[in-house]
Amino acid sequence: MVFLSLSARILLNVEALNMVESVGNFVRHRRAPIAVPTGTGFMLKYVPVISGESIAHSYQELLADAGIKSGIKVCSNCSAGIFIKHSDDPVLEDWAKKAIKEGEEAFERAIIQNCFVEDVGGFMYAGGKPVKRTSRFQVGYMVPALDAITSTAVEAQFHVRYAKTTEAQSIYNVEVGSAVYTLGFNIDVDGIGVLSSSKTELAVTKEERLKRVELAIKSLNTMLSNALFGAKRSRFTPIWKVLNAVAVVSHPIPITAEPPHTKDYIVNTSRKVGSSKELLNKGKVNLNETAWVGYYSSPEEVLPKVEGVEELKDLTQLINQSINNVLKLIS
Ligand SMILES: [Zn+2]
Repeated sequence: MVFLSLSARILLNVEALNMVESVGNFVRHRRAPIAVPTGTGFMLKYVPVISGESIAHSYQELLADAGIKSGIKVCSNCSAGIFIKHSDDPVLEDWAKKAIKEGEEAFERAIIQNCFVEDVGGFMYAGGKPVKRTSRFQVGYMVPALDAITSTAVEAQFHVRYAKTTEAQSIYNVEVGSAVYTLGFNIDVDGIGVLSSSKTELAVTKEERLKRVELAIKSLNTMLSNALFGAKRSRFTPIWKVLNAVAVVSHPIPITAEPPHTKDYIVNTSRKVGSSKELLNKGKVNLNETAWVGYYSSPEEVLPKVEGVEELKDLTQLINQSINNVLKLIS
């Protein structure tokens, strides 16, 4: 399994990227409880967070955009940024209605061929006998880094608009969050363009599969290098910086990048990759594990060089080098 795993620390100031409800004229930021180590135990804290669903939505919008602009098929709902996917009979197009009659495998094959977003992001059909394609990417909540938890805040910002019809002031408050957020993102590269039932049989040509893999990783770069994720960006685009990031490309057993809660995460990732390779490549069953690790660190939070880990100048170069390593393994 060729697997790409990326962890990053992202500074986001005055962001309203994930709001949950409006109570009157008050719009609340999403919060979640997290257990924070104190040295003697753990303490529960409620902090601003950005949900994995929110990140996944933005990533899939970018996948759709990249697919359409590269001549790779994307279904009409996904093209419009509506990710209900092929979940039930009323939303099936004629080709999908025909395919579902031919069985689960034919249905999955047709959807992979006709929709790049659902190839990478998966779907769940529950109209009759369920057909499921697990998402090839995994993402979770962005939460404040544990080592910067005391530098985290959510605060309501007062705004007002003049309403000419009533000659009144319309007052509203929007909560904004500021924190060093952590992000983890994995892509099961082997699963892109491949049927779930066999795990090896291609649903598209080999050439198209390579294009899809490249586009899936390029879309990750578009999202992170440009902070194109989350909501409310039209008036609350945050002040942002990807402080540092680490990427791991592993094969055939997946190895993930460590969560970036402390500045040691690149060293810890490198150590884990080293010990995982040692374990997998010894004994009576040598798995011939290979893994490349690269990182990038900005002047705002410089991390020390790590031996055996390739240092790249910026996030885009890090992702570009990840693509090179992925393509070397699969082509
Ligand atoms: Zn679709």
